Amino acid sequence: MRSYWLNQALEQSPARPQPLSGDISADICIVGGGFTGLWTALHIKETDPSADIVIIERDICGGGASGRNGGFCMTWASKAPLLYPLCGGQETVRMVEASEAAVRAIGQFCADNGIDCEFRHDGWLWTASSETQRDAWRGAIDVLDKLGLHPFDELSPDEVARRSGTPVHIGGVYEKGTATLQPAVLARGLARVCAERGVRIFENTAMTELGRASPPYVRTDRGVVKASKIVLALNAWAHELPEFRRAVMPICADGIATAPIPERLEKLGLRDGLAISDSRTMVDYYRRTADGRLVYGKGGGGIPFAGRVGNRFDTESSRPDEVRTAMLRNYPELADVPIVATWRGPATRTATGLPMFGRMKRAPAIVYGHGYIGNGVGPSYNGGRILAALALDRKDEWSECPLVGASGKLLPPEPFRFFGGQMVRAAVRAKDRADDQGRKSNLLTRYLAGLAPSGLIARTGDRN
Ligand SMILES: Cc1cc2nc3c(=O)[nH]c(=O)nc-3n(C[C@H](O)[C@H](O)[C@H](O)COP(=O)(O)OP(=O)(O)OC[C@H]3O[C@@H](n4cnc5c(N)ncnc54)[C@H](O)[C@@H]3O)c2cc1C
Repeated sequence: MRSYWLNQALEQSPARPQPLSGDISADICIVGGGFTGLWTALHIKETDPSADIVIIERDICGGGASGRNGGFCMTWASKAPLLYPLCGGQETVRMVEASEAAVRAIGQFCADNGIDCEFRHDGWLWTASSETQRDAWRGAIDVLDKLGLHPFDELSPDEVARRSGTPVHIGGVYEKGTATLQPAVLARGLARVCAERGVRIFENTAMTELGRASPPYVRTDRGVVKASKIVLALNAWAHELPEFRRAVMPICADGIATAPIPERLEKLGLRDGLAISDSRTMVDYYRRTADGRLVYGKGGGGIPFAGRVGNRFDTESSRPDEVRTAMLRNYPELADVPIVATWRGPATRTATGLPMFGRMKRAPAIVYGHGYIGNGVGPSYNGGRILAALALDRKDEWSECPLVGASGKLLPPEPFRFFGGQMVRAAVRAKDRADDQGRKSNLLTRYLAGLAPSGLIARTGDRN
């Protein structure tokens, strides 16, 4: 099952997967052909054009979350309350500014390399759609103000309603740094540019064993890759490795796309590439596409037991009615519009709400980066910079940044994580329902919902 985005990208340019066959060696082997793996390869090539790089991808490049997300290419402005305690003031400013620069760099890279991913730099409307979400951005704005950064403009409820096309929102802020794009076209385009720059890409090739030896290796069904360095760019699938089982929680997110309705979206006021989300823990996020569809997504759609991600989330959405109901709460006038595609995919949550990068403790030639918590489209650009610096053993502001080696609180072991996670998820849903109806949920529900590792608010800016 492919997402709406990936099907569209493959119609424009069909995939011709080349699986690995036989044993090979390389300087650097990257496992995972999503944004993280692809940007890592491109940043390495930029620094060292002669580096011999191999990418191993179990599906096709962009087959994971990178080809299935909402296409919100965001900054880390909303992450300031998380960055500040970890990084301190100066580094938080650098990270936020670098994340803004990353969004611009992605747009420029696409323009320079003929990747027509409908990149539109029209900003993000971060809204509240119930009283409990009111002022969800206050924590971020307070930290940013203290640091002399002012990326958010506070808008009147009327202005939020005008820009979002719905009076459901009771408040909101606008950040101009965010862009929207067609994510699968970007992922497939990055893979093309990687190949043009000499990166060898083996698709339909899953890592079946990670050799934590010296030198390390990646075993697949039909061959072994030996490399001086291995980069794990596995997103939620990192959870399948024992080293990360308690640090990364895979969680599913869902998306739906309507038939093209450009005139009706125009009438609602949805004219450009504005990214819109609310502030509930299982965040709602929505935007129009270049061809005039509404893409509506929702986070918090399920967690796998015992870390078995596999292809469990490679299906149509398991809750299309719930996502459509959420869409109609905002846009009841679209009740007659057909939903032409639904999909879902694995995102990740970490205990800290920030991605993790580092070297494996007992195998330092293996480096890893994952855990963007639903905000990885833009940040994976700098995530790739961190991984490139680690893979090349460079000492710079990326390899030395506080996200490298930050351990974060560990999630509970199974079966507590799964059953606890189910209870927390049920509580978050019940609380969201009560909030939408203007009711107060009971104390236990509020307590359990508060244990959710992260939502869009202060702990965040996330979308899963
Ligand atoms: C429905 C949904 C909506 C989202 N919306 C947004 C959004 O609007 N904005 C935003 O910023 N973020 C969003 N996200 C999150 C975003 O998509 C991710 O943070 C980002 O794509 C992460 O990129 P990645 O390369 O790390 O992961 P991925 O793209 O998932 O790449 C990991 C790759 O590893 C491969 N792999 C796994 N196991 C193996 C193995 N054993 N061997 C070889 N390869 C393997 C997978 O097939 C996959 O291609 C969303 C996520 C989902 C699921």
